[in-house]
Amino acid sequence: MDLETLLALDRAHLWHPYASPSDPGPIYPVRAARGCRIELMDGRSLIDGMASWWCVIHGYNHPRLNQALCDQAARMAHVMFGGLTHEPAVRLAKTLVDLTPEPLEHVFFCDSGSVAVEVAIKMAIQFWIARGQPERHRLLSLRSGYHGDTWHAMSVCDPVTGMHHLFARALPKQLFAPAPSCRFGEPCPESELAPFAELIERHRHELAAVILEPIVQGAGGMRFYSAEYIKGVRALCDRFDVLLIADEIATGFGRTGSLFACAHAGIHPDIMAVGKALTGGYLSLAATLATARVAETIAGGTPGVFMHGPTFMANPLACAVANASIELLLEDDWQGALRRIEQGLELGLAPCRGRPGVSDVRVLGAIGVVELERPVPMRAVVPNFVELGVWVRPFARLIYLMPPYVIGETELARLCAAVVQVVAELPGLWAQEGRV
Ligand code: PMP
Repeated sequence: MDLETLLALDRAHLWHPYASPSDPGPIYPVRAARGCRIELMDGRSLIDGMASWWCVIHGYNHPRLNQALCDQAARMAHVMFGGLTHEPAVRLAKTLVDLTPEPLEHVFFCDSGSVAVEVAIKMAIQFWIARGQPERHRLLSLRSGYHGDTWHAMSVCDPVTGMHHLFARALPKQLFAPAPSCRFGEPCPESELAPFAELIERHRHELAAVILEPIVQGAGGMRFYSAEYIKGVRALCDRFDVLLIADEIATGFGRTGSLFACAHAGIHPDIMAVGKALTGGYLSLAATLATARVAETIAGGTPGVFMHGPTFMANPLACAVANASIELLLEDDWQGALRRIEQGLELGLAPCRGRPGVSDVRVLGAIGVVELERPVPMRAVVPNFVELGVWVRPFARLIYLMPPYVIGETELARLCAAVVQVVAELPGLWAQEGRV
């Protein structure tokens, strides 16, 4: 199909994420992707700064992942998981149990991060039903949090500034503590936890669980907060017997410099959701892990079964690629790679500090963020990045980089240099928009 036809048909028939169906803004047709490069149909090659939203950790078109996918496809692409099982799923479950914080033992596979959150919340609610306390069905979450696009997941996203505030009236009513303002690497004064402590104590009789994104609040603002805050949350959950759900969908598999972000705080959640990088960005697979206490309580209640069962549960292709992706991650010096990326981002983004319109520059692991005083004029900025040979897609007041872990020093420097250049041009673009 030629470029014009493809774009015309795309515009006529496709929705893009968080976009108008009639005017989605600039859309770039991709021909292929390899390593850290995205090749556009018009022949341009872009250095990828997004890892396709956290997930492509080994780069695109990786021979080992391709092989795992083809081998599995030759055996069995899919089979229902009701009453049947297979080695790719069993191996993956065992690996996840071994790698995640210790008491997590039971793995529920599903097909997206949002559904993994949905499953986590249903597990928490069913846990309390099984304990004879069905009134405990509410969730306590943090402002600036983001947990996905499905119904219960939307209900625990920031209800005011979050992407789903439009639906706030229709969603289940949850509780929200202020977003932590103590930054990663800094102590967390007791006063910071006080509003959370007050909410959990006051509402403990109706709370099923607390849900949070450990260390990094992602789509709600790319905020990196203190590990001490999470330790405090864990202690309060223990004190008031409330389950703790860690949403590691974005942070899992090394992105923050730890295999899982919970490790920065040394805490053990009762339920954990993982997704995104689980398959190295190849297929849509996510998982919800629970402790033996959660699983056994659900099993001991009525009806004694967990009430969820997606059609594509534990898809063998996805599980096989996930096994290969985790093997690849662990056999490489991923911690060394992450340290090099962290240093490269620190160095490369440093010139943005103190620039007009920049309110903060922060780096953690393979995540670099430039926070601005005003929203980024996307329709001008994305084409500018493409002209500079990089794929960077800002949102709201944030320009952020989260490249594949295999990115080289030179490519990373080019990505950062493009951000520095675009940031320097922002005041002019804001002026053109009439915002200044
Ligand atoms: N939780 C977090 C922390 C996320 O970052 C995301 C995706 N941005 C989700 C849940 C939802 O995952 P998915 O898009 O795969 O449904």
